[in-house]
Amino acid sequence: MSGARADTDAATRTEARRAARSARRLVVKVGSGVLTEEGRIRPRIVGELARQVAELGAEGREVVLVSSGSIAMGSHLLGWDHPGRSIREKQAAAAVGQISLSELWRRHFRRHGREVGQVLVTRGGLEHRERYLNARHTLTTLLSLGVVPVVNENDTVATDEIRFGDNDNLSATVVNLVAADLLVLLTDVEGLYPEPPEPGKRPRGKPLDVVAQVDDTTLSRAAGSGNAFGRGGMITKLEAARSAAAAGAATVICNGRRKGTLLEVARGEPVGTLFRADGEGARMASRKHWLAFTAKPRGSVVLDAGAVRAVVGKGRSLLPAGVVSVRGRFGVGDTISCLDDDGRELARGLTAYDSADVTRIQGHATREIDRVLGYSNGDEVIHRDDLVLLDAPETAKTPSEKSAR
Ligand code: GLU
Repeated sequence: MSGARADTDAATRTEARRAARSARRLVVKVGSGVLTEEGRIRPRIVGELARQVAELGAEGREVVLVSSGSIAMGSHLLGWDHPGRSIREKQAAAAVGQISLSELWRRHFRRHGREVGQVLVTRGGLEHRERYLNARHTLTTLLSLGVVPVVNENDTVATDEIRFGDNDNLSATVVNLVAADLLVLLTDVEGLYPEPPEPGKRPRGKPLDVVAQVDDTTLSRAAGSGNAFGRGGMITKLEAARSAAAAGAATVICNGRRKGTLLEVARGEPVGTLFRADGEGARMASRKHWLAFTAKPRGSVVLDAGAVRAVVGKGRSLLPAGVVSVRGRFGVGDTISCLDDDGRELARGLTAYDSADVTRIQGHATREIDRVLGYSNGDEVIHRDDLVLLDAPETAKTPSEKSAR
């Protein structure tokens, strides 16, 4: 065994695949290993994936694509027979290749009447709450417009401290960003095998069907199978699956070179290896921990009795209508306290509006936000995913701060 807890019970497996079938919002990561052959991009694969994503779209399902391939494409355009020998060369290749990569996706999606939007991010950027929220709003706006977001790391500016380093981890962050319910990692292997293959050899046996949980043993035993162009091997895929599970999404690792794979996965067929999402209560727990124990409130809002009931009693988001006053000065993305009228701190959360704007929209109905401010960062002053109740510390008990971004 690779250490993964495989589900052997047929009913559990069918149930897990049903989660993939009912997923409405998917993040699909396409690795360089899928997109390239001997360092060259395979336009036919791009066309086949665009067709499948478009078909999912026609079913009313939303897809964010995370596409690698800029370095491979750039080094080919520069006439190199290597993917860049230094970080600088790779960054230069990415700068050259990203243009063609986006153009290639654009061309293929246009055949299906869909536009694409290029979204380049870095880990360092997304650690800033405001930029994280901006990225979320842009991505969800693109989705609501029917545009397919094509995400990649901004390799040109990414140095070690601020980079994801591989698009597997980036795609798990995107899952959290857009609250996706399924992550599909399209790669050049069939899935996770019970025994890691020997270096350079084909894996033996059949891949696992459904895995309940990725634990430390799984991670430490998994063999890295990275290729020259893609940084991520199986380990980063398992890390991504674990992170997505904590964000409430299942993950499927499967062979993206096979025709129709994505559609099969999305229809709940037993393709590749599926990793189940964590149960309801576990979602976002680590960020709630970060909010409750690490982040420092920069200001506060006083809630009326109705908002106290909604937020504390029912776990709802804080809407502008429930705010009676604002204390202190804070910016978008800052942590703020929610107080009752006796000044007791009931909850903490990340605000989607700065103090001046909360003052302007307090007491107003959600539909008036746009009119009052001339823009909207969403319906909520604090979205419930960004909120932790202080009288329920047991909901905030996850030690890792890794996904606290
Ligand atoms: N951002 C890199 C590229 O587009 C790929 C990173 C990865 O494949 O994980 O070439």
